Amino acid sequence: MLDIVTFGSEATDAILRAKAEPIKDVNAEIKALAAAMLESMEHGRGIGLAAPQVDRSIRLFVTRLDDDEPRVFINPEILLVSEELTDYEEGCLSLPGLYTNVRRAESVKVRAWNARGKLFTLEASGLLARVILHENDHLEGLLFIDRLGEKRRQRAVQAYLKKIRM
Ligand SMILES: [Zn+2]
Repeated sequence: MLDIVTFGSEATDAILRAKAEPIKDVNAEIKALAAAMLESMEHGRGIGLAAPQVDRSIRLFVTRLDDDEPRVFINPEILLVSEELTDYEEGCLSLPGLYTNVRRAESVKVRAWNARGKLFTLEASGLLARVILHENDHLEGLLFIDRLGEKRRQRAVQAYLKKIRM
């Protein structure tokens, strides 16, 4: 099982805040990493996991919703986001125990490489779109708390830090 990097210390925050590097080659190591990430994500009962969360600053994330197949996104590009926005409660394996409503686009069009090294385009809406946008943010060094207004962000961070330091 891979260790999941959690927010709240200088060392881990540096990893979570870095902009991840593109992957040049979908080789055996990347495939093995994607498989291990899916396993670790399911173990942690998450529905998405990005490589920076397992201490790899590369552009890769995985998703698996209850009613969906496991998906691997390598070098993803968000091509379109809907103007329609929705609020929905989010959590993150890197901020365990913190759940709060985040406003995001209702649907998204994304292009990426899959674990077989094939380019694909996907149009998603609802929860899958949300997970894709959340995980893609990780590749830019952004966390879901950054999508809150400043006051709500401060409150969420304080509540989270208090909990992990107890
Ligand atoms: Zn996350």
